Amino acid sequence: MAKRDYYEVLGVGKSADAKELKKAYRKLAIKYHPDKNPDNKEAEEKFKEAAEAYEVLNDPNKKARYDRFGHAGMGQGGFGGGGRGGMSMDDIFSQFGNIFDDSPFESFFGGGRGGRGGAGARPRGQKGTNLRIKVALTLEEIANGVTKKIKVKKQTVCTTCSGSGAKDSSSVKTCGSCKGSGYVRQVRSTFLGQMQTTTTCPTCNGSGQEVTAKCGKCQGDGRVYGDEMIEIEIPAGVEEGMQLSMRGKGNKGLKGGPPGDLLINIEEKNHEFLSREGMNVVFELYLNFADAALGTSFEVPTLTGKVKIKVPPGTQAGKMFRLKGKGLPSVQSYGTGDQLIHVNIWTPKKLTDEDRALLEKMKGMTNFDPTPGKSEKSFFERMKDYFA
Ligand SMILES: [Zn+2]
Ligand SMILES: [Zn+2]
Repeated sequence: MAKRDYYEVLGVGKSADAKELKKAYRKLAIKYHPDKNPDNKEAEEKFKEAAEAYEVLNDPNKKARYDRFGHAGMGQGGFGGGGRGGMSMDDIFSQFGNIFDDSPFESFFGGGRGGRGGAGARPRGQKGTNLRIKVALTLEEIANGVTKKIKVKKQTVCTTCSGSGAKDSSSVKTCGSCKGSGYVRQVRSTFLGQMQTTTTCPTCNGSGQEVTAKCGKCQGDGRVYGDEMIEIEIPAGVEEGMQLSMRGKGNKGLKGGPPGDLLINIEEKNHEFLSREGMNVVFELYLNFADAALGTSFEVPTLTGKVKIKVPPGTQAGKMFRLKGKGLPSVQSYGTGDQLIHVNIWTPKKLTDEDRALLEKMKGMTNFDPTPGKSEKSFFERMKDYFA
């Protein structure tokens, strides 16, 4: 049988847009849906033909190839990878089932897929709950990013019953309500006529099995609490209060349901010398008055080891030095902050007689009188600039 032209199959023109294509395909998919045409080979062929035509025309690359070369251009690597008939009904349902997502037919299509019992289409049990943990990090760990191995207490598969919840293999029988399929069918009336929908069997929660004697270890739940070592990769630049999540690392689901997620709340440990201001880190440098007046050099701690800085003569309290790039990286990786060094002048708290005599002498010298200029006055402006 010669292949029909895809445009002819869908009954659309060559310039049909995505909306028209979808509408045309949806119409045919409903008309030839296997649930409406049980044991009708011809309808099944038409259903497949429409899916194939839609798959090609709805993909700009494939459409361009088809427009140029016709079916010949679709052979290898074309539809479903294997030409005509390469796509099973299950492929069609899993690939195009969402065509009805925005319409009242979603359950119709979804039900058809489920009822077919295709691979992986089995309804799942209840999803496991999310787990929350806190991870406290040093600024160094935040600067570089870190992989943490953390022991998490969570619901895992009961190894005694392999998660079945049953005492032994003889205490599992096929669910009577759904005959083991995990689904129950309901017939619904819509303006298109009677539609079958399929839902998860409430008796067995979709597992298709009933347990007559429960596993002693988990009391039939199929899950037990246990420890799991989880490796958590934390990217550089995270901040206190941020939450990371790891899909599927939470508690195990019930009766084959998917596991929950692991939610990781980031905390920052206080650093001995440095404090964080966004992407910058700040070091409070205390100089003695003589060093500030004479100039000196000083080793300051940074996140990557000590760095020697020069303090020029006449350095005032409030002066801010900047070590470019010695701060924290942005978690979205757009650059790195700086380390700011804030100068404080240390005033002695206890004085000996000798100190006092020296200071009394200095006090009288006019050169020690404050004569603040513009740069000293703008200190608060500068602080605002730094931390804006
Ligand atoms: Zn059942
Ligand atoms: Zn068990």
